[in-house]
Amino acid sequence: MNEKGPRVWTNWAGNQHCRPASIDEPKTEERLVRIVKEAAEAGQRVKVAGSGHSFTGIALTDGRMISLGRYNRVLAVDREKRTVTVQAGITIAELNAELDARALGLINLGDIDYQSLAGAISTATHGTARDLGGIATQVTGLRLIAGDGSIIDCSPEQEPEVFHCARVGLGALGIISTITLQCVKAFNLRAAEMPMRVDEALADLDRHILENDHFEFFWVPGTAWALTKRNNRTDEPLRTRGAWQEFRDDILYSNVAFAALCRIGRWRPALIPRVAKILPSSGRTVYVDRSHKVFTSPRLVRFYEMEYAIPRENAVQAFNRVRDYVKRSGLILSFPVEVRFATGDDIPLSTAYGRDSCYIAVHVYQGTHYQQYFEAVEDIMDDYGGRPHWGKLHFQKAETLSPRYPEWERFQALRTRLDPEGLFSNPYLDRVLGPIGAGV
Ligand SMILES: Cc1cc2nc3c(=O)[nH]c(=O)nc-3n(C[C@H](O)[C@H](O)[C@H](O)COP(=O)(O)OP(=O)(O)OC[C@H]3O[C@@H](n4cnc5c(N)ncnc54)[C@H](O)[C@@H]3O)c2cc1C
Repeated sequence: MNEKGPRVWTNWAGNQHCRPASIDEPKTEERLVRIVKEAAEAGQRVKVAGSGHSFTGIALTDGRMISLGRYNRVLAVDREKRTVTVQAGITIAELNAELDARALGLINLGDIDYQSLAGAISTATHGTARDLGGIATQVTGLRLIAGDGSIIDCSPEQEPEVFHCARVGLGALGIISTITLQCVKAFNLRAAEMPMRVDEALADLDRHILENDHFEFFWVPGTAWALTKRNNRTDEPLRTRGAWQEFRDDILYSNVAFAALCRIGRWRPALIPRVAKILPSSGRTVYVDRSHKVFTSPRLVRFYEMEYAIPRENAVQAFNRVRDYVKRSGLILSFPVEVRFATGDDIPLSTAYGRDSCYIAVHVYQGTHYQQYFEAVEDIMDDYGGRPHWGKLHFQKAETLSPRYPEWERFQALRTRLDPEGLFSNPYLDRVLGPIGAGV
């Protein structure tokens, strides 16, 4: 038994802390089940902390915390169906390496690969794509430990109701023990990154989305410029950037120089716009690499983030309102506003449930006040029925969220069935989902 505590647990961004009664690092499912049963008997709550990459208090507990860093093996690979079954603690980086070694890959990914797979699907983590959803849409089966310690295997055929809801479960339905994912044959992506006037990007937004497998842009506040990224599947052979250019782009510019800009900005905010104006002059980069190497990159500069999913058709209007607000507010921001896309899905608490979505994300440097900026952007997103990312900062609660999710009650009914005592709850879940069995 690896039980330690009480010690302080902190998330990646450093804005969430808790002192769990204990932290267990189980290596077996039997141990996981025992922890759930022991906690239930002792009247304690239980929470799995993934890689701590949520900005919200979603992973916090003063009860028993479980770390699945040692519960991270690949259990089975079905070469014919191209599915893989893994223990829930595997990180996306570890999974990518395992898949790559088997000439497989995930069809779409977010910006980073540090998250645990279970943590990523539990909060509806997504990337950007013309006709793909978030990572949870690739799940074909789950094995879940419910509040009474029972194990539920679910898939579209077996326990379909559990499967329907638990792909994006916010950690509220039970502990995910294993995940089966649909993979694809490993593929290369051709990445083209280039600056563009933001008005130009917006004027032709539909075309950019339509013409590319994966389109996104980052608007640099204080400037008229956006950095656009187009990633497209290709049969072209690898044409990587080379070790120096990769280091220069991903570490030196995107992290080291950017960190310096953020620190300068904290000391002399007025300098930020001047430095930001230099950014658009950075030129066009084109390369071909393995898909997961293109999708994800290192993030060494710590920040706080809020991100909203709104109907895709409102993207330009909502973005322009954010841009206007930033101009009018006089806020001097060192972080870009990121805009991405995903197709609608059928997962009740997915932020893209039932509608093709645009994701608008705002960030500030770690340690900077975010309240005024994030609240103002949230007000704008409210006008479009915006759904906040479950792992990113926001100010909503169950009453404001429930009308935005047509299958809210269906999720709540399952939550009451699988966790009637609220074993997996915590103050964040109490706030955004409400108390067990209460409905809203
Ligand atoms: C630098 C950075 C970049 C990011 N980029 C993106 C991005 O591109 N796209 C995007 O959508 N999001 C992004 N995020 C957000 C991130 O993907 C999510 O917050 C994700 O949930 C973090 O995963 P985690 O493993 O750290 O989980 P945690 O934050 O530790 O936990 C999240 C939730 O999952 C639950 N959980 C974890 N494991 C289990 C389990 N086995 N069973 C049941 N519940 C479990 C936890 O209890 C908690 O409720 C980013 C975050 C950061 C810090």
